[in-house]
Amino acid sequence: MEKKLFVNKEQLEGIVKEFPTPFHLYDEKGIRERARALKQAFAWNPGFREYFAVKATPNPFILKILQEEGCGVDCSSLTELMMAEACGFSGTDIMFSSNDTPAEDFQMARKLDATINLDDITHIDFLKKVSSIPKLISCRLNPGGYFSIANSIMDNPGDAKYGLTKEQMIDAYRRLLELGAEEFGIHAFLASNTTTNEYYPTLARILFEFAVELHEKTGAKIAFVNLSGGVGVPYRPDQEPVDIAAVGEGVRKAYEEILIPAGMGDVAIFTELGRYMLAPNGCLVTTAIHEKHIYKEYIGLDACAANLMRPAMYGAYHHITVMGKENAPCDHKYDVTGGLCENNDKFAIDRMLPKIDIGDLVVLHDTGAHGFAMGYNYNGKLRSAEVLLCEDGTAKLIRRAETPKDYFATFDFTGLFDKY
Ligand SMILES: *Cc1c(COP(=O)(O)O)cnc(C)c1O
Repeated sequence: MEKKLFVNKEQLEGIVKEFPTPFHLYDEKGIRERARALKQAFAWNPGFREYFAVKATPNPFILKILQEEGCGVDCSSLTELMMAEACGFSGTDIMFSSNDTPAEDFQMARKLDATINLDDITHIDFLKKVSSIPKLISCRLNPGGYFSIANSIMDNPGDAKYGLTKEQMIDAYRRLLELGAEEFGIHAFLASNTTTNEYYPTLARILFEFAVELHEKTGAKIAFVNLSGGVGVPYRPDQEPVDIAAVGEGVRKAYEEILIPAGMGDVAIFTELGRYMLAPNGCLVTTAIHEKHIYKEYIGLDACAANLMRPAMYGAYHHITVMGKENAPCDHKYDVTGGLCENNDKFAIDRMLPKIDIGDLVVLHDTGAHGFAMGYNYNGKLRSAEVLLCEDGTAKLIRRAETPKDYFATFDFTGLFDKY
């Protein structure tokens, strides 16, 4: 499949005049369309809600768009909770799915009356000690072993740090009932960036069957099943996108086969998608600033792994478009690099691309989730701006680029850097 950007050369040249590269650009129209398609896919479930995983794209302007589309937020830390509060989310708008959680994070979650999703059985007494046990609470299941779909191993939960064992889940719900909890959720995240339509339906079956067991063994009222994140996107041109309508139908089938006959037809389905919602609706816009000919051919961009870590960290593929050369033959083999003093700072290795000239706009696709968010300051590199392509075609700055002053801000007590 051809990978198309949501922005063309003319539009981008206009935007670059106002906002210099590098920056992450987001597509408001695409974000709204995805949120609506997801909602539609689960419209059969009256309680359905998407809690956008804030960690994927922690920007209040993005969260506001999703809020307008009816989404809640999934937070994992104190500062993400603060961002949720600042955007006007509260109570059941907020899911708090953290792990190895500090006391102050739990206290903030309780202050906002967020729905807390506990990662461990010991967190019950910890939460009770540092705050209090809410009436509605959830626990994260780790079923152990391997997680397979149609005989192919998708992931290895037995090796993952998250969640409670099935036995612990039963003990945990009994204990929470004793401590005054009245309604419960069940959560699990068993595989990441899945591109099969079967991930959610397979996970849903596991969680629905366990919800029935939990209800029967403990008497707990199960209010929601949280399928969490993990629905992926086609980063590579040869990958097929997930059909979200088919995913919703698959979950409905499991719901009708397992929960309805058990008399649990009032369970709400929640999701915490990050990547699916945002990844294709963002791109990293850069300029080619150097070319280098040694044992290989290199193109140096004005962005680096500090702006997009996934290629360096996971060897992840991000498609590249050279603006204005969309139809030119890909007859040049390049390593496309950033300027970190790390040889893994390569956005692409041995990639066949059109001939790139200095000054060309080089765009990395699918950076809308876990892109800017994973940025860092190694080598004193500064975080880029984030720009929103609004539905009306205008571009709006939604985060300014960092300046040296920001980089030196944590030395503000020394006076050493005042002149910058
Ligand atoms: C990271 C995360 C998500 C989002 O995952 P995606 O792969 O972006 O969909 C959702 N829930 C929890 C608890 C997470 O840690």
